[in-house]
Amino acid sequence: MDFNLSEQEKMLQGLARDFATEEVRPLAMEIDRSGQFPVNLSKEMGARGYRGLPYPANCGGSGAGYLSYALVLEQVSRASMTTGAIMAVNTVPEEAVYRFGTEEQKQTFLTPLARGKLLGGIAFTEPETGSDPKAITAMSRRSAGGFVLSGQKQFVAMAPVLDLAMVFTRREGEGLNAFIVETSSPGVSVGEACDTLGLRGLGTATLYLDDVHVPETALLGEEGQGFEVLLESISLGRLGVAVEALGVAQAALDLSLDYAGKRRARGGPISRLPAIQWHLAEMSARVEATRWLVYHTAFLRDQGQGIRQESAVAKLFASRAAVEVTGMAMQVHGSYGAMRDMTVERLYRDAKMTEIYVGVSELQRSLIAGYMIE
Ligand SMILES: Cc1cc2nc3c(=O)[nH]c(=O)nc-3n(C[C@H](O)[C@H](O)[C@H](O)COP(=O)(O)OP(=O)(O)OC[C@H]3O[C@@H](n4cnc5c(N)ncnc54)[C@H](O)[C@@H]3O)c2cc1C
Repeated sequence: MDFNLSEQEKMLQGLARDFATEEVRPLAMEIDRSGQFPVNLSKEMGARGYRGLPYPANCGGSGAGYLSYALVLEQVSRASMTTGAIMAVNTVPEEAVYRFGTEEQKQTFLTPLARGKLLGGIAFTEPETGSDPKAITAMSRRSAGGFVLSGQKQFVAMAPVLDLAMVFTRREGEGLNAFIVETSSPGVSVGEACDTLGLRGLGTATLYLDDVHVPETALLGEEGQGFEVLLESISLGRLGVAVEALGVAQAALDLSLDYAGKRRARGGPISRLPAIQWHLAEMSARVEATRWLVYHTAFLRDQGQGIRQESAVAKLFASRAAVEVTGMAMQVHGSYGAMRDMTVERLYRDAKMTEIYVGVSELQRSLIAGYMIE
């Protein structure tokens, strides 16, 4: 296995690092403070092709691949996890259409998503469940020329600004259905954005489906294949969260190294203290292990392999690493780390979100055990 990045990957990584440093980082604290969705950054990422990296040119993408996607997402998340999450969430419906869509659906949905012309999200969670597909109550029933959807979807990232939502419903027979729903359809409405701990500004809100008529062409895959669509596309969602966690952990390490070199105690920088060195070393080890785990998972996807188990492992490990690393960064920063105007405080809150959204860690453990034992 070649661990070296190609010239193209290095170039993409470098351009993304510049974009993140010059355009994303200066806005990160304000996005967090105001809770406002960063519309301009979202559009800019679309214009740069960051929303279509894994997909071929005939689907609106650049064909750069999943590893390139991870490299870019890492840099953006290092500056602002909320901004990174825009890329990552949008990729979930893209992946679903790419894997299960007809040629027509690829042209209608995937191409504009990948070109950054439309923004897509995922609507699985409901008030009563975010983990159990069997407990989904939103319904789809057949009607003339298509389906009628009704129900309520909770915690839908970017809901107020989405053009398309991948919606999961029960069906009249067994199993789930997956639809691509245009949010401008009559009967679709959005609640107030939630006031969240981290990932602030992502516009997480409730999506209401009140007898929404969708055409037959909105159905992804076969009727009843929704669970398969979910499993396949959410794997990329988990990889995305793992990469976000990596970016946040790297940012926490960067800040801690800088701070430890400047903050003084007992006549010298605190970086000379064994206790601080222990923190920095532990942080570095976790960041490196996470990096290679997520790169490897993306590499496997580039090889055409399924990553259902691998992405669950990557998300479980990376999110815990991010929580631990940002916790250590807080210790390195002392009381200053607990101040709302310090970046490390935002990283600490964002890191916690990675253990929760796109499947809680408990669910990842149960999935991983299931894959090993079955
Ligand atoms: C900022 C944010 C953005 C989000 N974006 C989206 C989005 O775009 N689309 C979307 O559909 N959802 C989204 N969510 C929802 C999120 O993915 C779910 O809330 C999450 O998966 C957990 O579901 P739940 O809250 O219903 O927890 P529950 O399923 O009620 O779980 C509660 C606890 O019970 C335990 N548990 C439950 N089930 C299991 C199991 N099978 N195995 C082991 N333990 C279990 C765990 O300890 C878990 O922590 C978002 C959430 C947030 C906070």
